[in-house]
Amino acid sequence: MTVPKDKLVQKESSMLIQKEMMAEHYDRLSRTSSTGDKVVYTFVPGNLNELIRSFDLLPVHPEINALQSGMRKRSGDFIREAERGGHSEDVCTYVKCDIGMARTGNTGPTGKKLPPPDLLLLSYTGCFTFLKWFELLREEYDCPVAMLHVPYQADGKITPEMTAYVVRQLETDVIPKLEEVSGKKFDPERLRSMLESSARAEDDLVAVWDAAANTPSPIDAYFGGVYYIGPIFTAFRGLPEAEEYYSALRAEVEARVEAGLGPITPEGPMPGERYRLVVEGPPNWTSFREFWKMFYEEGAVVVSSSYSKVGGLYDLGFRHDPERPLETLAEYCLGCYTNMSLPRRIEYLERSVKKFKADGFLINSIKSCNSFSAGQLLILRQLEERTGTPGGFIESDLVDPRYFSAANIKNRLESYFQMIDARRAGGSEVA
Ligand code: SF4
Repeated sequence: MTVPKDKLVQKESSMLIQKEMMAEHYDRLSRTSSTGDKVVYTFVPGNLNELIRSFDLLPVHPEINALQSGMRKRSGDFIREAERGGHSEDVCTYVKCDIGMARTGNTGPTGKKLPPPDLLLLSYTGCFTFLKWFELLREEYDCPVAMLHVPYQADGKITPEMTAYVVRQLETDVIPKLEEVSGKKFDPERLRSMLESSARAEDDLVAVWDAAANTPSPIDAYFGGVYYIGPIFTAFRGLPEAEEYYSALRAEVEARVEAGLGPITPEGPMPGERYRLVVEGPPNWTSFREFWKMFYEEGAVVVSSSYSKVGGLYDLGFRHDPERPLETLAEYCLGCYTNMSLPRRIEYLERSVKKFKADGFLINSIKSCNSFSAGQLLILRQLEERTGTPGGFIESDLVDPRYFSAANIKNRLESYFQMIDARRAGGSEVA
């Protein structure tokens, strides 16, 4: 079946929409001294975007600034600045990038100055570094702090007591602080309508993830996926702009399915899918394009990745529920990937390998991210046993350019693809 030309042209529109949204957000942040907009620094996993936005506050996500600085080759200098200030080489490089940026004028990734926070809102969802990071920011800025403690899913489930505990903190600490900073009263109806909007965007995003079950997959759920999650994991969930973006994205992806096309890469549509992979761990940002190229040049497409779920496991059925506004926010925080136990993460990856008929799975172990890296060798062995597919292991870093060795990674990937070929040919070669 042929796809009308206007549909193909429309395919590119979601990226343009997304770029404009992000640029506009950073632009708005740079103008707060004249507009009077108030700013909340908060993290992506377990973010309370609808609640923040219901007070007309603007969110800033330090890890997004760090990764964007990495993509724009600015993170190396920031990291060195933080190390000169005494931060060790082993500290999460997102943290060092952020601290280095703050100490050298707080110029954001788009080259515009970021405002200082009016509130530091920490949703603590499983990664201990979040806690230490905000302790450092508290030393940099003179503003109130709200801490939302989210209990770890040690037994792999969310109990009513855990939800009630998080709701209580929202009611007694987080909402009062948001009221104080914004000068506005909490408006539950406004929050409800934003949560309705979130659920619609989440439906569209899940349709995009599910499209990877097609052969060829019309999406790359890791390299392309990081663009897809931008609006919903950051400043836009709950806003009409996010709905518009996800509806356009879904239409593009469905048009690619109809046309039997693969994902769009920086060099155009990827021809000839040869390997379908599931990837665990965040990508490297300082050499993102080079890293991605190593995959699409070999015809390797990522059909699912845990990293692109770090701000919400909607594919497991979670949707923000406007009928239970605070409970749903609590369950969203509790359900974060970073808050999941190791056995649950393994189950999730196993399900992904099987659902998307992957040829294997690959772990990108991040030197400075303990939250993702802990237990990855166990994940590798368990997944090999449970799925019967080969696992591969590469190492890099988030935003520290000193820890991206292109030659090593390329070699490892080539051997890994050969191993998949050998398995297909009926051999028993093991990496
Ligand atoms: S250690 Fe990993 S999960 Fe934790 S803040 Fe750093 S990058 Fe994020």
